[in-house]
Amino acid sequence: MAQHLKDEILFISDLHLAIEKPRITKIFLKFLNSRAAQAKELYILGDLFDVWVGDDDLTPPNKKIRRHLKNLTLNGTRVYLQQGNRDFLLGTRFCQETGVILLNDHHLLDLYGTKTLLMHGDLLCTDDIGYQKFRTLSHTAHWKQEKLAYPLWLRLIASRWYRFKSLLHKRNYTEDILDVNQTEVIKTLKSHSTFRLIHGHTHRPARHQFTIDKKPAERFVLANWTAQQGSVLCWSPTGHHIETLQT
Ligand code: MN
Repeated sequence: MAQHLKDEILFISDLHLAIEKPRITKIFLKFLNSRAAQAKELYILGDLFDVWVGDDDLTPPNKKIRRHLKNLTLNGTRVYLQQGNRDFLLGTRFCQETGVILLNDHHLLDLYGTKTLLMHGDLLCTDDIGYQKFRTLSHTAHWKQEKLAYPLWLRLIASRWYRFKSLLHKRNYTEDILDVNQTEVIKTLKSHSTFRLIHGHTHRPARHQFTIDKKPAERFVLANWTAQQGSVLCWSPTGHHIETLQT
């Protein structure tokens, strides 16, 4: 067991790891082997991968990432993972092989004494009615079973085709993703009796402060990773800060 330098909890999301983005993979592997290994816990709040066609897909960079995640959990850092809208098919086999713990879409964490809700964030974008419809459908057991029953090569070709199409349209993530709906944010926080939320997904990193029933509330939005830099929200008993990572 490695000596944990700090009683620290790290939060990341939206790395969108993919074979055509090797620099992000490089930053992430370096992070797993050094920075994350010093922390007590790491929370990955969704969209670790740009696409996930099933836990049986071991094409690059998946195998390498599994190996390094496993090293990290064996080394004593607890790693928790939420599914994102792009990697919502991440499942039990991936978790068993890496020692990563899969969380529900809403996870309440006692963050050094303050109840904090963790989400990927897509459920808060209720103005995107088309997406929410697809989300409900694609999260049914029937839909998942049907898609995962296709042979791996077919799932891979289908995912590459969708990515190629979006490349042709030069689509930009942030333009594609509507922002969260504030009414939904407040409703969600109230239903979990908490005043703090951490999420990713929108690629609009920020710390928003507002009130719920005259009490102060806050929403942290994690940054997406790029080829230039990764971003980590670091929390310790004395406070929090953002760290940026380079290759
Ligand atoms: Mn997302």
